[in-house]
Amino acid sequence: MALIVQKYGGTSVKDSDRLREVAKWVVKNKAEGNQMVVVVSAPGGMTDSLIKRAEEVHKTPSGRELDRLLSVGEQISASLLAMAIGELGYKAVSLTGPQLEIKTTNEFNNAKILGISSEKIVERLEAGYIVIVTGFQGIDEDGSITTLGRGGSDTTAVAVGAAISADQVEIYTDVDGVYTADPRIVEDARKLSSLSFIEMIEMAGKGAKVLHCRSVELAAKYGIDIHLRSAFSWEEGTWIRGSEKMEKAAVRGITHVKGVAKITVDQLESNGSLGDVMDVIEARGSDILLINQGLTREGQFEISLLLKEEEAVRVAELLRERLGGGNLSLKPSLGMVSAVGIGIRSNRLQGRVARVVNNEEMRVEMISSSETSLSYVVEGAQVDRLKKLMHYELIEKSLSA
Ligand code: ADP
Ligand code: ASP
Ligand code: MG
Repeated sequence: MALIVQKYGGTSVKDSDRLREVAKWVVKNKAEGNQMVVVVSAPGGMTDSLIKRAEEVHKTPSGRELDRLLSVGEQISASLLAMAIGELGYKAVSLTGPQLEIKTTNEFNNAKILGISSEKIVERLEAGYIVIVTGFQGIDEDGSITTLGRGGSDTTAVAVGAAISADQVEIYTDVDGVYTADPRIVEDARKLSSLSFIEMIEMAGKGAKVLHCRSVELAAKYGIDIHLRSAFSWEEGTWIRGSEKMEKAAVRGITHVKGVAKITVDQLESNGSLGDVMDVIEARGSDILLINQGLTREGQFEISLLLKEEEAVRVAELLRERLGGGNLSLKPSLGMVSAVGIGIRSNRLQGRVARVVNNEEMRVEMISSSETSLSYVVEGAQVDRLKKLMHYELIEKSLSA
């Protein structure tokens, strides 16, 4: 008998047919003698449409009210799945983040989990129930509902797995594994049978939205293996775990993020200004994708930051207020393409990519390189092309060599 946490994403619970399929699979696992906890996302598209509804009535809705609204999608899936399981003759109970006391920080729209009271889950499991948990949400110390950021149900699943010391965390989605690039964009992308936590953290952090980055960070911290697999084929998927044998190819995947913008603040007299800039960004709780600080020949400082476009617009306004603004520029509609793997520098991959990009005459806005990733920021319209070129140069060529 194993203690299993399964998480189902939006497409997997989109409608009643899908809910019935999921219910059958959960019940099959239960009938095999396992204790089952199931974390669900909102039905596909619902979170987007709730955000749209909110923005129809207020240009910048308050974080508290928006989170309160967004938490509803997951609650709908959870109750419906409990009913679908009940229909198959099994006992199921659905619980919301607040009911389970999933305590979080009060950073609305991007809250971090502080703790989960495992007894509430365990007592129901022991009473024979399949426990269904709403993903993506918790409660702050004032009792307000918070959400964990887009894609956050993965993080709920791993956090629940850690809290109850689950034997297995399975993330079910609409692809059958983690691929060397988004299979919906790069047709030649290959499925990976396994990859290490660090590789997956880099891939998720650089835009592979197949897993919420913080879910993999938590899995690494608590040593929980993740099995990412399909809720459509139910086949074996990709394992993300601590110890992985190195494969021949240094690069494991090419990721991308679209809809990003670059903020540049120049003519700064002191490098202390970077601290002011960071104060503003941290107070807003925005994630920075890339950061560069340089010194011009005239001895002035220049800071460039890459953020998601909506965030960049707000951060730019705040920075203008704080720094007096004339030297700030915002470049929207950019994208970032990254190669992720271990040994980027030692395998001298920077030059290979630079030559490919030169041949294409792409306008490169920023580059960042480390031992585990190499990122290029280009015009949004160039992202798919660059992604295919990098996939060919760094993955397909190496595998066929
Ligand atoms: P869910 O709703 O189940 O959480 P998501 O839409 O968040 O699903 O994530 C699954 C999607 O991630 C896939 O449909 C795929 O387009 C995308 N994706 C991006 N990068 C990758 C990758 N490297 N491997 C597999 N899927 C990827
Ligand atoms: N429903 C949320 C979203 O669409 C959370 C999730 O699906 O993980 O972002
Ligand atoms: Mg997701």
